Amino acid sequence: MSTSHFAYWPKRVSKSLTLPETTLYDNLVVSAKRYPNKTAIEYYGASKTYKQLLEEVDYLAGYLEHRLEISPGERVMLYMQNSPQYVIAFYAILRVRGIVVPINPMNTTDELEFYINDCEIKTAIIGQELSPQIEPLQATTGLENLVVAVYSEYLPTIPLVSDLTAEITESKKIYQNENLFYWEDAIQTQLTPSLYEGNSEDVAVLPYTSGTTGLPKGCIHTHKTVQANVVGSAVWMNISANAVSFSTLPLFHVTGMVHGMHTPILTGSSMVLLTRWNRYHACKLIENYQCTHWVNISTMLIDFLANPNLNTEDIKSLVNIAGGGAPLPEAVGEQLFKLTGLKFVEGYGLSETIAQTHFNPPDRPKLQCLGIPSFDVDARIIEPVTMKQLGVGEVGEIVVNGPQVFKGYFNRPEETKDAFIEIDGKLFFRTGDIGRFDDEGYYFIVDRVKRMINASGFKVWPTEVENLLYKHPAIQQACVVSKPDEKRGETVKAYVILNPIYSGKVSEDDIIDWSKEHMANYKYPRYVEFIEKLPTTASGKILWRTLQEAEWSKVNKL
Ligand code: AMP
Repeated sequence: MSTSHFAYWPKRVSKSLTLPETTLYDNLVVSAKRYPNKTAIEYYGASKTYKQLLEEVDYLAGYLEHRLEISPGERVMLYMQNSPQYVIAFYAILRVRGIVVPINPMNTTDELEFYINDCEIKTAIIGQELSPQIEPLQATTGLENLVVAVYSEYLPTIPLVSDLTAEITESKKIYQNENLFYWEDAIQTQLTPSLYEGNSEDVAVLPYTSGTTGLPKGCIHTHKTVQANVVGSAVWMNISANAVSFSTLPLFHVTGMVHGMHTPILTGSSMVLLTRWNRYHACKLIENYQCTHWVNISTMLIDFLANPNLNTEDIKSLVNIAGGGAPLPEAVGEQLFKLTGLKFVEGYGLSETIAQTHFNPPDRPKLQCLGIPSFDVDARIIEPVTMKQLGVGEVGEIVVNGPQVFKGYFNRPEETKDAFIEIDGKLFFRTGDIGRFDDEGYYFIVDRVKRMINASGFKVWPTEVENLLYKHPAIQQACVVSKPDEKRGETVKAYVILNPIYSGKVSEDDIIDWSKEHMANYKYPRYVEFIEKLPTTASGKILWRTLQEAEWSKVNKL
């Protein structure tokens, strides 16, 4: 049963959108033509107009094309924190019709190796402080070139928030490597790229996720699938050129990418970029730049509201506060409303859908609710084993069909096939989330069928963590599960069988310390428990779900 025929729908907008046949890069060209002298990016007191932004995008594109010989369809890694360079690099890769592979800057060498091999990266554009993590891989993988950016190059002499400079200023040109290119040189060379012949069906970006199971996979998104959500959010949130978006979510993740970067560029509005989350900086920047729209994640909002000096006056420019990726506790939504008079607008989506498939109507949001299916999205609830369609209030897997749904996993036809089911002659993507809808067509999330840990909105994929753990010589077998956590919602726990020759020589804490060194901070197991035997099927497959359920039931019993 489709919810679309009875769902609540705001009167202000039509149910369907005609999507442009243009590309994301075209959006930038149009905004630079319309608003050349308008601020595109605000960065702690420095700003870049649309004209300057386009100019630098084109210079970097010229360098990528002529010096580094990037060709259309080539994957280029973007491994960098939020910064003006991030935005410029993203659009420059698109300008040469390359494919952006955005990678979490918290990832370490072992993790990066996987991504580089998986989609055959030859060139990466990186933040300089990340160079020690990635440089060793030039010797051991197909990675050839690094283009290195220093964030402080784009900071004013005195940044708006004074304690920032030390944090993001790094000394320049300290690395010696003939395949290492400096951002500054790339821009100053002022090379012009060839005529742009981009097409809306070109692949634009490959965000990584593990999907329902297994190792991380790149989600194939074309300009058109991304545009569906970029145009959709501009219309849904009523974003015009006068808006000022506060971009605090990481731009490598789909929600930050769409709401923090592409939507402002489409609408010719300004984005206020934050490199690292800091609630005091956040407050000051909102006030200074009179930010109007802020898409965040619950942990960020909770921290923001915990600021004892938070003053309603300072943030009164905000007209829309939205978020997704993890549930927002009801009490926090209520606290926000008391303070600002604004209702939190929650959304729901995945990397496979380049952010939202569901959105709460800003005029009528519900708390702890995913919202209603977005423009042209057909969402259903199915029984995950029999595939039977379910009705109001019945709990089952959320499946979606819509213009933002990805084209498949890069180089993984089998997993792509398994990710979809056919209903009424249409292909629906299986989200792996368990939910229900109410009698107004609002969706709620109840559980997950997929193997994923949602730690403060950071998604941890157990198979990836297990594969990294297997690099430790003492680990014979490992099974990673989600452990409930008061602060992060969920956290990572590893059950480990030690190789007998290491018995008594390696402790649980040793494994945790080792993991800290080899994995991103949000990913390493906070808990390790040695175990004699893991539950397995007759064929020897580890029954992770049995351990997972046992872990959760410990809490339920308390
Ligand atoms: P990602 O691919 O990293 O964007 O993660 C997608 C997953 O985040 C979904 O499959 C959900 O499990 C979770 N998620 C997204 N939005 C919400 C939300 N509003 N509430 C709870 N979980 C969410």
